[in-house]
Amino acid sequence: MAVSTLPQPPAATRSPDLVGHWIGGAAVPGSGARLPVFNPSSGAVVREVTLAGVEEANAAVASAQRAWRGWADTPPVRRARVLAQFLTLLNRQRDALAALITEEHGKVFSDAQGEVTRGIEVVEFACGIPQLLKGDFTDQVSTGIDNWTLRQPLGVVAGITPFNFPCMVPCWMFPLALACGNSFVLKPSERDPSASLFMARLLGEAGLPAGVFNVVQGDKTAVDALLDHPEVRALSFVGSTPIAHYIYQRGAAHGKRVQALGGAKNHMVVMPDADLDQTVDALIGSAYGSAGERCMAISVAVLVGDTGERLVPRLAERARQLRISDGMEAQAEMGPLINKTALERVRGYIEDGVASGARLVVDGRRHPVSGAPFAVAGREAGFYIGATLFDHVTPQMRIYREEIFGPVLACVRVPDFAAAVDLVNGHTLANGVACYTRDGNVAREFGRRIQVGMVGINVPIPVPMAWHGFGGWKSSLFGDMHAYGEEGVRFYTRQKSIMQRWPESTPKGAEFAMPTAK
Ligand code: NAD
Repeated sequence: MAVSTLPQPPAATRSPDLVGHWIGGAAVPGSGARLPVFNPSSGAVVREVTLAGVEEANAAVASAQRAWRGWADTPPVRRARVLAQFLTLLNRQRDALAALITEEHGKVFSDAQGEVTRGIEVVEFACGIPQLLKGDFTDQVSTGIDNWTLRQPLGVVAGITPFNFPCMVPCWMFPLALACGNSFVLKPSERDPSASLFMARLLGEAGLPAGVFNVVQGDKTAVDALLDHPEVRALSFVGSTPIAHYIYQRGAAHGKRVQALGGAKNHMVVMPDADLDQTVDALIGSAYGSAGERCMAISVAVLVGDTGERLVPRLAERARQLRISDGMEAQAEMGPLINKTALERVRGYIEDGVASGARLVVDGRRHPVSGAPFAVAGREAGFYIGATLFDHVTPQMRIYREEIFGPVLACVRVPDFAAAVDLVNGHTLANGVACYTRDGNVAREFGRRIQVGMVGINVPIPVPMAWHGFGGWKSSLFGDMHAYGEEGVRFYTRQKSIMQRWPESTPKGAEFAMPTAK
């Protein structure tokens, strides 16, 4: 298979072949066990990642703790200048970073470029930190007394991130955390660990003092060490719901501030008046883009009234035509899954859907024309599966209830708008949702009544921009605050109130009644 001439990751990230930690402003190979890192498009091992033990995780926290005070005392405008320099480097290196993401994740290159851009936008937002940290001041709260509030950093904070956005999701966390004056320890996914080191190097080049940003590679051992460490004041997590719940409980038990974003089962409600061409495009892109490995992917189409009769045949036709191949192929629309385990899990869900009585309209396990087991020519060892479409799925089925995290779209048919809203509101996962309609009143009612954190009206993947904040409801987010935006600033700072008086007269003696304005 001829691979296009799109940018390749720079040599510096290919060698050494071991992806290690970043502690105290330098690469640390790590002495622990190693895991292979695959290129999911070819199935080949491209490098190895080292897994931190408790001691290495503690070393990263110690490094962050040493660097913290100096960074917290650095004026916000100077912290912002370091981030502005990081932004310049990130923009310059955008394609190299995107190619690295495609290599280890498998998503198509244009999608990886989009991921980096969405990360860059949070860095842009974080550059406005002097304005965001401005406090409130009241002159003369009582005679001769002023009161103001300010927000101060927490100290060492940590981020634990999933495989599906190895650049964007860390960028939901560390740019704002650093801008607010915290030091940071990132524990990225062990499945595509190189983007984290790439960004650590750029932060160093941008002038971030050593130790302010650290990376520990690893698995549960490293995560538990961060959860239990008394110097880690706050934890941001993004990943699957069971782990998010665990992180929230264990972090909270240690008195930490925790925001833990979990899994998703995003519905798109299609009203009978929706523009069918737009709806088909939106469903194909949002269900099968990034092979369905997006927390904002649409995995359920809720087809209202007679919509199913008109829509399902068109969806099937398009699903069969998807161009599936190596993400670096210029024509690729969908790449592989992250690894063999994911491939087996998705195949298992397809079997389960068939066994539970759903109608399998397009079977991604087989080639749409030949019927042979699905494979990409020249990439037979890659972790590919075709687009899969189920119709007549019911809310009792596992393929409806559980997050599949693969290119599987389940169509559920409902009689009317009220039934569609009830269906969506009955699900325990509530990350994103969309409604396709041409009726303004339906759109307005949908936005108000739906119990989901992020809503799109004729927008299939409504990922909020950097200044709005990202977060689901119910079991898609444990914690009070959304990621990034002003909620992110609140999460990474705590408020202090200072009341001040400079008396000019002689003291009046102790007062025992509650102070009130005089
Ligand atoms: P995951 O939960 O398996 O892993 C996430 C992180 O937790 C990784 O860094 C991993 O090393 C760590 N981890 C895994 N098992 C652990 C354990 N037992 N104890 C402690 N730490 C552990 O998630 P994933 O497979 O990497 O990512 C896919 C999931 O993330 C999907 O469920 C997806 O919906 C979700 N996700 C959610 C959002 C969101 O914003 N809500 C965004 C992206 C991804």
